[in-house]
Amino acid sequence: MDVAVQDKMYIDGTWVAAQSGKTREIIYPFDKRHIHTVAEGDVEDAQAAIAAARDAFDREEWSRTPGAERGRLVGKLADLIEENAEELAKLESWDTAKTLEESRWDMSDIAGIFRYYAGLADKDHGELVDSPIPNTVSRAVREPVGVCGQISPWNYPLLQASWKMAPALAAGNTIVMKPSETTPLTTIKVTELAEQAGFPKGVVNLVLGPGPTVGNELAVHADVDLISFTGGIVTGKKIMQAAGGTVKKIAFELGGKNPNIIFADADFELAVDFALNGVYFHAGQVCSAGARVMVEDSIYDRFVDAVVERVKRIKLGDAFDPRTEMGPLISEEHRAKVEGYVDIALEEGAKLLVGGARPSDPALQDGFFYLPTVLGECTNEMRVVQEEVFGPVMTVERFSGEDEVVRNANSTIYGLSGAVWTTDQAKAERVASRLRMGTVWINDFNIYFAQAPWGGYKQSGIGRELGPQGLEEYTEIKHIYQNLATEKADWFGAKG
Ligand code: NAD
Repeated sequence: MDVAVQDKMYIDGTWVAAQSGKTREIIYPFDKRHIHTVAEGDVEDAQAAIAAARDAFDREEWSRTPGAERGRLVGKLADLIEENAEELAKLESWDTAKTLEESRWDMSDIAGIFRYYAGLADKDHGELVDSPIPNTVSRAVREPVGVCGQISPWNYPLLQASWKMAPALAAGNTIVMKPSETTPLTTIKVTELAEQAGFPKGVVNLVLGPGPTVGNELAVHADVDLISFTGGIVTGKKIMQAAGGTVKKIAFELGGKNPNIIFADADFELAVDFALNGVYFHAGQVCSAGARVMVEDSIYDRFVDAVVERVKRIKLGDAFDPRTEMGPLISEEHRAKVEGYVDIALEEGAKLLVGGARPSDPALQDGFFYLPTVLGECTNEMRVVQEEVFGPVMTVERFSGEDEVVRNANSTIYGLSGAVWTTDQAKAERVASRLRMGTVWINDFNIYFAQAPWGGYKQSGIGRELGPQGLEEYTEIKHIYQNLATEKADWFGAKG
C-alpha cells in the first residue's frame, strides 16, 4: 500500500494498541493482498474510550467552547481533509476496492460535510417561546447530548463516518467512533487529521474491532448517551435491544430497497443511463442503490434491451486502473449472499438477461467479483425484489399505471429512497408525494448533499443525518423558564 496510516486506536488523545495485544489483517478485496495490520480492540478498549469521552464531556471544556470556535476546528478538519484528499481516496480504494474515481468523489463530499457543519456550529440561537404567563421569559435552547457512540459500515466507510462525526463535534459532543472492522483505514486517517486540527483531549476517540464486542459495548454502556449506527437491519435490531437497557438516544441508518420508477413518457436515454448508475456504483453495495427498476409496460422491452447492451460493456477491474468501471464485492461471504439471491430469483421465475455468474477473466479470479447482472420479468412478491441484495443485480418489473407502481414500490419493509422518471411534472409530484421514503428523486438518482436531510421511513432507519436535522439529532432541547415577577402562591399551610 502506498499510503502511510496509523495502526492503533486513539483514546484520550493517545494512540494505543489493543489491551489484549491482538491485531487484524486488512486486505485489498481486488486480490486479497494484505495491505495493513491494525489493532483489534475488545470490550476493555471500548470502555477506556467511553471513559475518556465521558470525562472530556463532563469537564465541559468542549461543550462550553463557543460555537464559532467549535466551528473553526471542524472547519480546520475540513481543510485538512481537502489537503489530504488524494491520500484518503487511495486508502478508501485500498480498503473497499471501489474505483479511485468514486473514492475521489466521496472525499470531496466528505470535506463539504465537515465544512457545512462547521458553518452551522454557531448558528443556533435557540428560540424565544411565547409564554402564556405574564412577566416571564421562556426559551428553548439546544445543548449537546453528551457522549456519542458512532458505528459505521464498510460500504462508504469515511462518508458514513463523516455524517456522524461532523454534526456531533459541531454540536459540542464527545465521540467514540467505531468503523467497520473490515474497512477502518480512512477513519483512522481522519482521526490523525482531527488530532492535527487540535480538538481537546478525549473529544475524539477511535476504537477498532468487531461489532458484537466493541460495537455492542458502545450500545450497552450507561455512559454513552447516544448511539448512532449505519449498517444492516439485523445489526440495527440487536443494537436497539442493547441500547434499550439504558434508554439512550438512537439514530439509525439501515438498509433500503429503492424503487427506480420509469414511466413511458420519461426521457428514455437518461432513464437508461441513470438506471445503470443507480445499480452498479460500488458494485451495488450502496444503501440507496436503485436495484429495483420498475418500468411502464409499453417501454419495458426497449428498456431492457438498452440496459443489457450497456451492462455487457461494463469493465471490471482494479480500483487503481482508470479503465475500471466496477470493482469486486467486499468479501467472499458477501458474494455468496449475492449469488444466493440470484439463485432464489431464478427459482422464483425471474429471467436472467445478463451476468448471473463470476467473471471468467483470469485476472479477476483472486477478488470477490460478480458480473453485473440484470434479472427480467421480476414481480413484487419475489425475495430479490423485497429484500436488500447489496450487489450488482438489477431486477426489472413491468407496471401499468400509477396506483399499481406506487402500491408495489411501497410494499417492502424499507423506505429509504426512490426515484421517478417522467416528463409530466404533475405526475412526478403526485408519485413523489405518495412514496413512503425519506428521499425521492425526480429525473435523477442517488443525489444527496450536506444541506438536505437523509434517512429512512419504516425499517430503513430512525432519525435523519445531514442538513440541519442531522445536527439536531446530536442535541437535547431544554426549556429555560424565568419568572420576572414571582408572586406568592400560598397553596400549602397558608390558610391559617
Ligand atoms: P453491518 O450491520 O454488518 O455492520 C455495520 C457496523 O456495525 C460495523 O461497524 C460492525 O462492526 C458493527 N456491528 C456489527 N454487529 C454489531 C453489534 N452486535 N453491535 C454493535 N455493532 C455491530 O453492516 P455492513 O454490512 O457493514 O453495511 C451494509 C449495510 O449498511 C447495508 O444494509 C446498507 O444498506 C447499510 N447502509 C445504510 C446506509 C444508510 O444511509 N441508510 C448507508 C450505508 C450502509
